[in-house]
Amino acid sequence: MATVLERDTVQGGQPSIPATEPHPKPERLPLGPIKTVHVFWLAGMSCDGCTVAVAGATNPGIEGLLLGIVPTMPQVILHHTVLSVEAGEAFIQPFKDAWEGRLQDPYVIVAEGSIADERIAARTGGYFSAMGTEVLSEGGQSCPVPSAEWISRLAPGAAATIAIGTCATWGGVPSAAGNPTGAMSLMDFLGKDYRSAFGLPVINIPGCAPQGDNFTETVFAILLFLQGLGPLPAFDELGRPAWLFTETVHRGCNRAGYYEEGVFAKNYGDPECLIELGCWGPVVNCNIVKRGAMNHMGGCMEAGGVCIACTMPGFPDKFSPFYKEPPGGMISTAMSRGTGAVIRRARRLSNRHANSEVRWDKLNAVPSGWANVKGASPTLKMMEFFYKKWQFWGAKAPGRPKGTEDRFWGVDRPGTSADYLDDSSAREDARDGR
Ligand code: SF4
Ligand code: SF4
Repeated sequence: MATVLERDTVQGGQPSIPATEPHPKPERLPLGPIKTVHVFWLAGMSCDGCTVAVAGATNPGIEGLLLGIVPTMPQVILHHTVLSVEAGEAFIQPFKDAWEGRLQDPYVIVAEGSIADERIAARTGGYFSAMGTEVLSEGGQSCPVPSAEWISRLAPGAAATIAIGTCATWGGVPSAAGNPTGAMSLMDFLGKDYRSAFGLPVINIPGCAPQGDNFTETVFAILLFLQGLGPLPAFDELGRPAWLFTETVHRGCNRAGYYEEGVFAKNYGDPECLIELGCWGPVVNCNIVKRGAMNHMGGCMEAGGVCIACTMPGFPDKFSPFYKEPPGGMISTAMSRGTGAVIRRARRLSNRHANSEVRWDKLNAVPSGWANVKGASPTLKMMEFFYKKWQFWGAKAPGRPKGTEDRFWGVDRPGTSADYLDDSSAREDARDGR
């Protein structure tokens, strides 16, 4: 486990706060203010989808951080296997500097992809995932350095260690049943006792691919904390940003109203709730439907797809076979079908009532040139009468109390524009304000 660094130790070894009384001994203090922070992006068993998702983040985007133009934020120097322009030794050197403590600025590591058990590959003299090469013994051959080795080297000194995407957070697809690599998550690899140099356990931002803004927003919040300008953001018991992953997909789903009324899609492309096509949304923590996949657009149900629970630690094994109705869904849909059948009909009546002006109710006619809209039937009128009584029980209904004198022409005399124009005395009254 890494030791907790103190403010004066980290800032280039120049003590800025004497560690003597009366100053209290600083513990796990934010770094701030810092001008530059290095981000080492380490790819394990990944498809680079997380990188694509983050590159597409807009709120906030990564460009401002990389350019150092976001007020109060340090400039981020990104060392990324795909996005960096350096190659070869020039690319690897900062990783070595960070490992050997020669970097002048603090650093954060971001792990994308799960971490393979390299001991398995080593048995046959190979490796699963690596970055750069090193000569391990004098006169020896140059060998690839496994990603797992880089994580072991850099994690203890990192200001924060972030796992992005479901492969890095929970193992994901590479760790599915039957995999030959022994792939695991960053938390599994570093263990329960791991803490970053500033006392933080692994921060997890899941999703396959994750919502890009979820990542950038969390990084901004952590940087504010490291700057000493904000509190430590709230994380849940699994290290997920609590404000992003507390709610289920279902609670924010644009199809949840259909579920409640017991109406379900039979085919892809239908607008109703997708649970019978295999949606796991009611039990999955994810905000993509509320936030959109990118730039507030898209998201699984928005685009017509079911939730396969890609943000969850149990993904994929606990949610397969995909596209088959979950057993729990069969019970809850049967119940909502029963209650929904009643609620749906009652709402249809209320909706019809809401679609009529008060004036039309009085005239019992709708002056629409688009269709012949019938007035309410006597039964419906009676229901509306009692509904209104109940609605305003103990409250004041709109308008003047009965018996109060009319002060404006036409309030209780619904008519058409023709009536109005024919009624010249009323017109003059209105013009003269009488
Ligand atoms: S589509 Fe899925 S998340 Fe949306 S309402 Fe249906 S079950 Fe819930
Ligand atoms: S809604 Fe489900 S499948 Fe879609 S991103 Fe969220 S967890 Fe993954």
